[in-house]
Amino acid sequence: MKQSNAQRILVIGSSNTDMVIRAGHLPRPGETILGGTFLMNPGGKGANQAVAAARLGGQVTFICKTGNDIFGHEARQLFEKEGIDVSYVFTDIEHPSGVALITVDAQAENCIVVASGANAYLSPADISTAYEAIEKADIILMQLETPIETIQYVAGIARKLGKKVFLNPAPAQPLNRELLQTLDLITPNETEAEMISGVKITDNESLQICARTICEMGVGSVIITLGAKGAFIYRDSFGECIPSVEVTAVDTTAAGDVFNAALTVAISEGNDLVEAVRFANKAAALSVTRYGAQASAPYRYEVV
Ligand code: ADP
Repeated sequence: MKQSNAQRILVIGSSNTDMVIRAGHLPRPGETILGGTFLMNPGGKGANQAVAAARLGGQVTFICKTGNDIFGHEARQLFEKEGIDVSYVFTDIEHPSGVALITVDAQAENCIVVASGANAYLSPADISTAYEAIEKADIILMQLETPIETIQYVAGIARKLGKKVFLNPAPAQPLNRELLQTLDLITPNETEAEMISGVKITDNESLQICARTICEMGVGSVIITLGAKGAFIYRDSFGECIPSVEVTAVDTTAAGDVFNAALTVAISEGNDLVEAVRFANKAAALSVTRYGAQASAPYRYEVV
């Protein structure tokens, strides 16, 4: 895979702290369960993608908003340690950092409550103070855990400046055509693709129709991720499936985040979509063999 003259990547999105308790079962309303084990992990789709992209060799700037609290300070330090440019990590003095409270039972079923906190206040006004970061970037990668009007604002500016705009439309929500028309690439999983297109995926034919429908809504290229099956690329009226790497999965948390990060890094290095998806499949497959979100993101030398 090509690796020369890498372009600059700007990730814009959420940063959360995941507080995970593993317990025998999920609590019923009013129930207290003793005997769980606790882990605190850095998370949030934006932060996961920024960290994974940096580990894979990308030149990354990250824009997010955290609270003026211990979680926010630790997150910033962590990003710096990963070699990420944190010049536009904003601190919200009114709202706390984003937190996810996660309970996981013995069958790996989970129950999650997210308090978005400062993530919900990353505004177009913040972005205008970070205009320089957009100007300097070649590719902008976003997700849907920060306000949609901010994402739309960034996409509009970036498009006018001739930047490549990538959206990982997670978590699932319907999207308007105005936003879709400003995107060069969108990377939904099957649920997200169904929600955007209104087409249910039941077989290869409906997969193709679903991807084509999204393209016809105005996006340049569509990549639908298919979990253990790999990913489906659709562009220029042509679709093809790139199978994943076979592994024994232990935890699929952040598989999509690692996939998006790796895909963006490969494109930033001048590779075409097929080569980039092959690289992304390899990186994401490695991540599902490990526990955690950012903890499971592989380094470049591991993806061979
Ligand atoms: P999300 O995690 O966003 O729901 P997917 O489940 O489609 O997205 O996974 C994203 C990518 O991660 C897939 O396209 C694939 O490359 C990789 N992946 C996910 N699960 C597995 C698995 N069990 N084995 C190998 N690769 C996997």
